[in-house]
Amino acid sequence: ERRDPDQSEFLQAVHEIFACLEPVVERHPEYAANAVLERLVEPDRLVKFRVPWVDDDGMVQVNRGYRVQFNAAIGPYKGGLRFHPTVTESVVKFLGFEQVIKNALTGLPMGGGKGGSDFDPRGRSDAEVMRFCQSFMTELQRHIGQFTDVPAGDINVGAREIGYLFGQYKRIRNEYSGVLTGKNLEFGGSLVRPEATGYGLCYYTAKALRVLRNETFENKTVVVSGSGNVAFYAIEKAHMLGATVITVSDSSGYIVDPHGIDLDVVRDIKMTRRARMSEYADAVPDSTYHEGSAGIWTVPCDIALPCATQNEIDGDAARSLIEHGCRVVCEGANMPSTPEAIAVFQASDILYGPGQAANAGGVAVSGLEMSQNSMRLPWSFEDTDQRLRDIMQGIVAHSLDAAKDYGREGDLMFGANVAGFVKVADAMVAQGVC
Ligand code: NDP
Repeated sequence: ERRDPDQSEFLQAVHEIFACLEPVVERHPEYAANAVLERLVEPDRLVKFRVPWVDDDGMVQVNRGYRVQFNAAIGPYKGGLRFHPTVTESVVKFLGFEQVIKNALTGLPMGGGKGGSDFDPRGRSDAEVMRFCQSFMTELQRHIGQFTDVPAGDINVGAREIGYLFGQYKRIRNEYSGVLTGKNLEFGGSLVRPEATGYGLCYYTAKALRVLRNETFENKTVVVSGSGNVAFYAIEKAHMLGATVITVSDSSGYIVDPHGIDLDVVRDIKMTRRARMSEYADAVPDSTYHEGSAGIWTVPCDIALPCATQNEIDGDAARSLIEHGCRVVCEGANMPSTPEAIAVFQASDILYGPGQAANAGGVAVSGLEMSQNSMRLPWSFEDTDQRLRDIMQGIVAHSLDAAKDYGREGDLMFGANVAGFVKVADAMVAQGVC
């Protein structure tokens, strides 16, 4: 707080995780002796750079790029790139910090990093996005590498952007390596990577439901926010598991479709035409469009899967969810619940699965993409999907074991933060003060 008083998102993420660690530090005096917490909140490095590019009118535009390399105690830095006007140093640091814990939870050898730019791709042509990505990578390439730091996608960075970024890296470095994940299948991508975060969220939720409630997704009503990569595949898997997802949203408003969201319509609007979700109501009878995104949390449901962005559920939204029958909240987005919302969930009997555990499926399959790139051998969809399922079920099990170990039975948030932290902390202690 003294060093970064204005970095509200970063401080929020640190408070959320550190609040769980007090009994762990008490039990492990070696952590305090080695200043593990103090070292954990200070990234290894943060690069901040100018991204100049030329728009379709021939005008020079300038954006700011970031890469935070947070912690590499258990593997090379790994974490996505976000292109959005709200991206700041605080946002990439909060995401990078949570990524350290998340990546440890997957059980794969990956450290934590994150990056992005305040570039807004909305309304930009393909050619403009390509020129921006090429300029961004022209600087980023000197900081990353398959054994150093392996970025992936995040908000507004999908297969198109990863393709342009990969092309520029290859061109500058004259090297064909697995330096980015989320690549197309034709040049080293992994099957299941597009589906991984959404599917993984449902595998995590299904396992937690079974263990803690002896229930399944069958016949449940689900509210999903967002309509991007995570939301799309969370809806698809929830439907496959027998639930009905009745909402979808973007930053302008949300759709309620009592018959279950039609993903063909969402695909056409979001992925093919990059248009607005309001068009769903024109295309699907009985569905309704509601202006503004906050009202989505007043829609009655059994399960809520926030899959849009940070701080989308505040205290009022959390209370509203409970009043309207919701009993399960598992986070596809990163830090979608404010501290007040989390306090509301923790004080109720809601089954709450925090993002750093519940949305780890994306980075898990990114880790599997790195393995396949190293082996130069692709795995089948079934094989990769099964590994994803095992990893997500393992995260629930390890979280519950850690919670039990500290007398906090059933507390998935406490358990996830402790299990992820201990793995990184032990590696940091073993590697000495560095
Ligand atoms: P996308 O860019 O694919 O989609 C983001 C979606 O969220 C868009 O539909 C966007 O709408 C919508 N959105 C943004 N802000 C709001 C808002 N305030 N209210 C409602 N909807 C909003 O991103 P992803 O699906 O990849 O990422 C979503 C979240 O999941 C992020 O928090 C990300 O960090 C997290 N995540 C992503 C992973 C991945 O593998 N992709 C992995 C782990 C976490 P609009 O078009 O209006 O902007």
